[in-house]
Amino acid sequence: MNIDVNKNAFKIDLPEDVKFVINQIEKNGHSAYAVGGCVRDTLLNKKPQDWDITTSALPTQVKSFFRRTIDTGIEHGTVTVMIDKTGYEVTTYRIDGEYKDGRHPESVEFSVRLSDDLSRRDFTINAMAYNETDGLVDEFGGITDLNNKIIRCVGVAKDRFSEDALRMMRAIRFSAQLGFDIEETTMKAIYELAPTINKISMERVHVELGKTLVSANPERCLLYSKTGLFKEILPLIDEALTNKHVNKTLKALKHIPDDYDLNLTLRMRYALLFSSLGSESATKTLKDLKMDNVTIKLVASIIDASQNEIAETEPAIREALRRLGSDIFYLSLDYQKALTLAASDLTGITNPVKLSHYENLRKMAKEIIDRGDCFSIKSLDISGNDLLEFGLSGKDIGKTLEYLLDLCIENPRLNEKSTLISMIPRD
Ligand code: ATP
Ligand code: MG
Repeated sequence: MNIDVNKNAFKIDLPEDVKFVINQIEKNGHSAYAVGGCVRDTLLNKKPQDWDITTSALPTQVKSFFRRTIDTGIEHGTVTVMIDKTGYEVTTYRIDGEYKDGRHPESVEFSVRLSDDLSRRDFTINAMAYNETDGLVDEFGGITDLNNKIIRCVGVAKDRFSEDALRMMRAIRFSAQLGFDIEETTMKAIYELAPTINKISMERVHVELGKTLVSANPERCLLYSKTGLFKEILPLIDEALTNKHVNKTLKALKHIPDDYDLNLTLRMRYALLFSSLGSESATKTLKDLKMDNVTIKLVASIIDASQNEIAETEPAIREALRRLGSDIFYLSLDYQKALTLAASDLTGITNPVKLSHYENLRKMAKEIIDRGDCFSIKSLDISGNDLLEFGLSGKDIGKTLEYLLDLCIENPRLNEKSTLISMIPRD
């Protein structure tokens, strides 16, 4: 990519709503620009997730210029302007006060100068603003860094990371999302200040780590251990990223199916991240990260499900489907395939036997499911109530159902009510 450094040479096609918001503010005698991630992403030909606007107008003024607004964070200068059903965050130019805790400024001060606002931003590529009146405002060499694929702090890196330690993780996260390198002094400052990441809440760490893992370059999460960022706060991930299996783990992160959505990608990559340590370590760490319970359970189940070999016979597959459920069964195959492909990446030797084993298991499971074979108590042609009527009670009912299911797993043709009744053990 090469963006012409002459700022007048290009024009960003702002969405109509964004133009409207900026025009409306300008009509009222203030300046306003699209700023930050949306400018960066547009210059990279990526579709921005959202459009943020920065302005000289104070929040109360912004509110008076539009029909529908929401007080999102008035004290920090942010008002959300609603245009139809879409919200646009409009924030007054800000100078952040002193950061005493390494997390939040003690105070924020509003400013009338755009350059004040740009200089509080984290990286040069995130510190550009654009409107149709002035074109691109790039005071910190953001375009040059975009062209050279570099993440560089605005100002003195050590100072910027001392203000807000989360920025160290953001540098690595953007590097993974964009495939950019981290500039040398910025990187050195991360090594130096890594222990201060303990000031940051796990919820915020979790967001950055998640964005890194679902990115196009998830293997860059290695930087979290190399720099020392995870040493204290996430020691088990640190271990997974330093032990002798790390290269395989990192390669495996890339081998997940194309059709996965973001949620599934995240869960599978967490499972793979813990492939060398096991489900207990995964569960503990994901709890520390305040991950949701569905994710924690799924990640642990994928890892555990992959411990046992499954034979290529229908009863063995039905038994596995009974134990795991079909979702985990298939996910476990994807997980094992990723690890097999990763091993091949490292050795240069492919493993067609293993790969076709996973493919066969997948095909056979699909046939079993499509045919409607019984592999759960629920799908037995007999119920607990039937057994009650038959004179069974208490624990015997559960035990009998399990016994009948065992028989059906061996031979699904037995799943017919009268046949099942004839097989109830009598003593
Ligand atoms: P994305 O939303 O795609 O993750 P983004 O660049 O929009 O990326 P946000 O976290 O939405 O990132 O923040 C919007 C902008 O606010 C950034 O581009 C940056 O200019 C600024 N910013 C966000 N967080 C910080 C921070 N911790 N320190 C300094 N500036 C920040
Ligand atoms: Mg954003």
